[in-house]
Amino acid sequence: MVDNNINKKQIVTYMPENLQEALEIIDKDEVIILAGGTDLMVRRKSPSGLIPKFDKNTLFVNNIEELKNINKDDNYINIGAGCTLSQISDNSIIPDYVKEVISDFASLGIRNAATMVGNICNASPAGDTLPLLYALNAKLVIKSLKEEKIVDIKDFITGPGRHILNKNEIVTEIKIPLENFNKFYYKKVGTRKATAISKLSFVGIARLKANVVEDIRIAFGAVAATIVKSDDLEKRFVGKTLEEINSIKGDITDEYAKLITPIDDQRSNKNYRKKVAINLLNDFIKQLS
Ligand SMILES: Cc1cc2nc3c(=O)[nH]c(=O)nc-3n(C[C@H](O)[C@H](O)[C@H](O)COP(=O)(O)OP(=O)(O)OC[C@H]3O[C@@H](n4cnc5c(N)ncnc54)[C@H](O)[C@@H]3O)c2cc1C
Repeated sequence: MVDNNINKKQIVTYMPENLQEALEIIDKDEVIILAGGTDLMVRRKSPSGLIPKFDKNTLFVNNIEELKNINKDDNYINIGAGCTLSQISDNSIIPDYVKEVISDFASLGIRNAATMVGNICNASPAGDTLPLLYALNAKLVIKSLKEEKIVDIKDFITGPGRHILNKNEIVTEIKIPLENFNKFYYKKVGTRKATAISKLSFVGIARLKANVVEDIRIAFGAVAATIVKSDDLEKRFVGKTLEEINSIKGDITDEYAKLITPIDDQRSNKNYRKKVAINLLNDFIKQLS
């Protein structure tokens, strides 16, 4: 049966050409913000052959040039919200570990349309860029007509599909702190190599000097309602040699196991997710040497 509800309300499509225009629109009207549309078009799909159902006015952000910049300042790499994953990956200032995560994301066609900010705002625990962005302590620039604020990604996402953005606000930029790491470990566990949604994922990054851990970040995707990352547990590695870490490894993995609370769904089950997550953590620790 064809649902004709869509015809009952006139839907307006806004295509602002600059950020000021977009901010003025969202200040007056409640809209759905559409970037690449790779989540929204699927979430709002209609029976085959019919146009997707958008029940609110829609604001396309992909004509806004100010959102397409990638640059570096003294403290951050700044990625505009309108940059597609392919544009991010093709840019020479983007670190290789960001490119590695993007290369396992969907297929080239999707990466040519999808944005990293869309992945963040979709706020799925299985969003592939999220463990990396949490591990890097990324921040988001949020703008409304009247103010600009910068929030940590961990404070932005509040649950599956949920975030703190108000109706009159838009994410304009991702800020990745500039830091040096000499270890990077990433695993996406999916049904197949390409175009698979993660059963779970793991990111481990670290900086070691003369066998001592100076900095370490550990993040798990799709094993809880939001990304699992613990500053407290990371601190237990810092200042320790690899030999010292080996002797406390069991305690630390037990603590992580308490934070890993996956669900059963069509892609996997909680026992598998938990076991593989802890195996990946152990493998990362082993590969620090
Ligand atoms: C075939 C296929 C394969 C996929 N594979 C993967 C995969 O491997 N890994 C993965 O993580 N995801 C995957 N996805 C999901 C999707 O591609 C990603 O989540 C993508 O990053 C979404 O970006 P987008 O620009 O298309 O977002 P959109 O669909 O345009 O928007 C997604 C959400 O973000 C909001 N939004 C977008 N931009 C802004 C902004 N500037 N400010 C505020 N809110 C904003 C929208 O309102 C919406 O709620 C796949 C999707 C498809 C269709």
